[in-house]
Amino acid sequence: MSCRPPDASLSRLLQDHASERPRDECGVFGIHGHAEAANITYLGLYALQHRGQESAGICTSQGGEQFVHRAMGLVSDVFSEKVLARLPGRHAIGHVRYSTTGESLLRNAQPFCANTDGGPVAIAHNGNLVNAGAVRRELEGRGAIFSTTADSEVIVHLLARSRETSLEERLIDALSRVKGAFSLVMLTHDALIAVRDPHGFRPLVLGRLDGAWVVASETCALDLIGATVERHVDPGEVVVIRRGRLRTMRPFPKPARGAFCIFEYIYFARPDSNLPGSNVYAYRKELGRALAREHPVQADMVVPLLDSGSVAALGFAEEAGIPYETAIIRNHFVGRTFIEPAQSIRNFGVKIKHNPIRELLKGKRVALVDDSIVRGTTLNKMSTLLRNNGAREVHVRISAPPTIAPCFYGIDMPTRSELMAAGRSVDEICEAIGADSLGYVSVEGLRKLSEHLKHDHCDACFSDEYPVPIQRGDDAPQLSLFKPVGESSRDEAPE
Ligand code: AMP
Repeated sequence: MSCRPPDASLSRLLQDHASERPRDECGVFGIHGHAEAANITYLGLYALQHRGQESAGICTSQGGEQFVHRAMGLVSDVFSEKVLARLPGRHAIGHVRYSTTGESLLRNAQPFCANTDGGPVAIAHNGNLVNAGAVRRELEGRGAIFSTTADSEVIVHLLARSRETSLEERLIDALSRVKGAFSLVMLTHDALIAVRDPHGFRPLVLGRLDGAWVVASETCALDLIGATVERHVDPGEVVVIRRGRLRTMRPFPKPARGAFCIFEYIYFARPDSNLPGSNVYAYRKELGRALAREHPVQADMVVPLLDSGSVAALGFAEEAGIPYETAIIRNHFVGRTFIEPAQSIRNFGVKIKHNPIRELLKGKRVALVDDSIVRGTTLNKMSTLLRNNGAREVHVRISAPPTIAPCFYGIDMPTRSELMAAGRSVDEICEAIGADSLGYVSVEGLRKLSEHLKHDHCDACFSDEYPVPIQRGDDAPQLSLFKPVGESSRDEAPE
């Protein structure tokens, strides 16, 4: 037997599903005023692991000095007790990353640290800047030397060059030059600063633990460390925590509308997290109910595509009055490489991750629920697989509208041409995935259901309506400058 690379679609599937949610973007965490700052940050990142599995890092500060450890890999592999013991101080920030812009390299791992004439700073950023390429070119033209390929580094350079006096004013000055999505934390020698971009694309929540202040991408991180949730950081808000005191500012012009990423509710965030306006589990269940009302089905069982479809499928089953069966079992330990047998096995790619239970499916009409079809890799052979395992009919239901447009604000999505739903009708997709019927939540249905969130959201991936415009040549670095040789463009500007 030899270890050989899988075929392209299989390789894609393995990469897409190498762990819980490997194409996610980033998670950030920060704590100010706690004796165990590094250990608590480690735990916070542990809870945010689903937001990025490529690299992890923590930076602490003590007596005007900063200490940092970053490495490729999962939080549990990157940090040991020994490593954490080398990160002293009562203040810390941390980051987990999956590459959405820039290459997958250790030098791109965050937090980014820099020495400025105002003292050392460390920055951890979640989101994508849509004008990072243009700003970078401009800064390079003025002599700046970049040491990473990540869009976030432009913030560090802008801050270092700012003429404002305090570090928080310099950060605000830097952030007013960039466009797009940023939920970020910054550590100075004496302060923790947390900021959300004016549109509020990505989440950021504020909490308290034993008198210390905590910020995190999601509330599940606060739950794990036993912190209380104070509130979500507002879009456009800058929170400065220094000597245990919190100060808040709103220095950026308010955009006409907010743009919280709706995909955080649908897919990204952990179901046990509370995002603005709703608990994620509750939202997904309602979405499943809405889907059942929009696309009723005659079926004997509702089957989730684990784990992404599980909560919506539960809502669907309850609304439709159809039994819920986990008739497809998922292998949680699928890695990026494997030893393939010399002779090809039918539907190997699908089965390595999901295996149907024949005894449950025999002669049954199945409503199969997942949250999205991106390239169609997952669902492509699923209907055949279910039929081969006894299912009489396979009706696919998706708890979101068709994914027709790429994300430029921090969610990893393929190019428009790779998206299965871009330029295809629902009937064509249904045929391509070999299902008996296919139904998506409509954009109107999604918007109606999201009214109770009481804030504006971004649904550009479903509607093709981008709240912050992207122009070719003005977007993130992956389009041109910093791509590893031989790699094709992963994103494209909207036409
Ligand atoms: P695909 O197989 O390419 O159609 O991708 C669809 C599957 O990937 C679904 O099971 C989704 O839950 C999951 N998914 C959707 N969007 C993303 C994303 N941005 N990153 C990782 N997985 C995703």
